[in-house]
Amino acid sequence: MSESPIQLGDYSRVVFFTGAGISAESGVPTYRGKGGIWKEYDYEQYACQDAFDRDPEAVWEFHNYRRQLVADCKPNTGHEIIAAVEQRGAQVTVVTQNIDGLHQRAGSERVLELHGSLWKVRDELSGFVKEQFDVPFQAQIDYAHWWRPDIVWFGDSLRGDVVREAVSAIESCDLFVSIGTSAVVYPAAELPYHARDRGAVCVEVNPEQTRLSSIYDHCIRATASDALRAMI
Ligand code: NAD
Repeated sequence: MSESPIQLGDYSRVVFFTGAGISAESGVPTYRGKGGIWKEYDYEQYACQDAFDRDPEAVWEFHNYRRQLVADCKPNTGHEIIAAVEQRGAQVTVVTQNIDGLHQRAGSERVLELHGSLWKVRDELSGFVKEQFDVPFQAQIDYAHWWRPDIVWFGDSLRGDVVREAVSAIESCDLFVSIGTSAVVYPAAELPYHARDRGAVCVEVNPEQTRLSSIYDHCIRATASDALRAMI
């Protein structure tokens, strides 16, 4: 890809808004589309509170399977460039819809996970959240806690404090780069409007058009790693 109209070094407050597409080059399956995980699994059986209340072991078996899939993947050039921009001193916030933890594994420090994390568990009774990297995680062996994945499942609400922090970063950024999201999952899909309304330069990186493409100043039809490589 030739040089991009956007050079990351020209901006001091950058928000990267990422979705499943940024992890596609790492081999993490997307939810929808070709190879999407919901083609194989019914979410009503594995990814909602009712399912967990009904059959926590089956839900944990599914999430342990997903942990194993992601543990076998590595961050790709896209994740690494984003981490490098932050390490060079720009004020960078990653607002991600992903639950895979690959931004952190690449070295990003300021990551807001809108939909939670595969690598965190929450005690249903107390609300206490902790990091948990075991694969598989034997949740049912801990009799003192009732651990569930700290993921925003279908029907759950997003955490208000995380959304507020994301909106605050987005409203004060000078460059907003959306990468690899189909912009169909709400309320996350509303966030780009905050950047546009505050006058940030808005860029969409996605090989395909999305329903939000028209609000962006620049649409780069390339993969995450190719597009980001051309921006440095
Ligand atoms: P999505 O699956 O709906 O859309 C993925 C988008 O990425 C598509 O528009 C596609 O054209 C684009 N894409 C594919 N390959 C790309 C590449 N190499 N570079 C750039 N873009 C590419 O994903 P979404 O918008 O994030 O929404 C799905 C929901 O599923 C989110 O809530 C997210 O939490 C969750 N999810 C997370 C993961 C993960 O953690 N890695 C994986 C699957 C789904």
